[in-house]
Amino acid sequence: MSKAPSITLNNGVAMPQLGFGVWQVPDDEAAKAVGTALDAGYRSIDTAAIYENEKGTGQAIAASDLPREELFVTTKLWNSEQGYDATLRAFDASLGRLGLEYVDLYLIHWPLPSKDVYVETYKAFEKILADGRARAIGVSNFLPEHLERLIGETSIVPAVNQIELHPHLQQAESRAFHARHGIATEAWSPLGQGKGLLDSPALVAIARKYDRTPAQVVLRWHLQAGNVVIPKSVTPSRIRENIDVFDFALDADDLAAVAALDEGRRLGPDPATYDVC
Ligand code: NAD
Repeated sequence: MSKAPSITLNNGVAMPQLGFGVWQVPDDEAAKAVGTALDAGYRSIDTAAIYENEKGTGQAIAASDLPREELFVTTKLWNSEQGYDATLRAFDASLGRLGLEYVDLYLIHWPLPSKDVYVETYKAFEKILADGRARAIGVSNFLPEHLERLIGETSIVPAVNQIELHPHLQQAESRAFHARHGIATEAWSPLGQGKGLLDSPALVAIARKYDRTPAQVVLRWHLQAGNVVIPKSVTPSRIRENIDVFDFALDADDLAAVAALDEGRRLGPDPATYDVC
């Protein structure tokens, strides 16, 4: 049984609000980690071509006896493959590695403003959607200015923008832009990559109050804010802990204490300048 409730994307497709991220999980360990996550009740998996673990992810999906329609699989187009034709080829390759007929969500991994090809790239995404090979399309790491332009020059508003988002980087401006345009906000590094954030005295105190862990408090904060989250772990007990967050709620004081942790500090690159291919 899925343990996570779903949100409805702007094209009517349901997406679990909590999924499993597999960045930095080697391909030969991905099948085991994803298998553990599926057993724990996760139904949404977030991979990417650049993670080089689409194959292992696909193996776990094939090995599970879950019907395909109960799963929500996201993958992402890597930067070097942007451009209309290159995107169509890269998408075929991702599907091949995953061993799937379609993905649930396909994302442009980074906007690469210096290359200026994300509009053309997104037009290939619109074709993939029209062909029924992705159930929803979206972007990742897009700033409001990139979204503005995409919305102005293409016909389908992205269903999702997956951005770095955690208590140290709360992204008020992007979240407000997404809300105005019906774009779901998906948080990458939702736990702030673990160390540092999870030791915050404020989070430790809230965790104590509910007899939960700081990681569970952070995930609850995201869920109550309406964010989609994709925490990553390869430790089975943490994989289970991270989805066991649907039977308690933070109160207004807790939410205010987490809001006060915002430092506007990125762990990852700045999308305005990142151009690694
Ligand atoms: P995360 O915030 O999910 O943190 C993961 C780390 O936190 C783990 O490696 C572990 O050290 C620790 N951790 C996990 N569960 C814990 C628990 N219960 N208690 C204590 N520590 C715990 O970081 P992430 O992996 O960077 O992000 C999650 C997912 O987001 C990735 O796997 C990937 O799918 C996605 N992502 C996307 C982008 C992008 O550019 N679109 C970038 C980074 C990550």
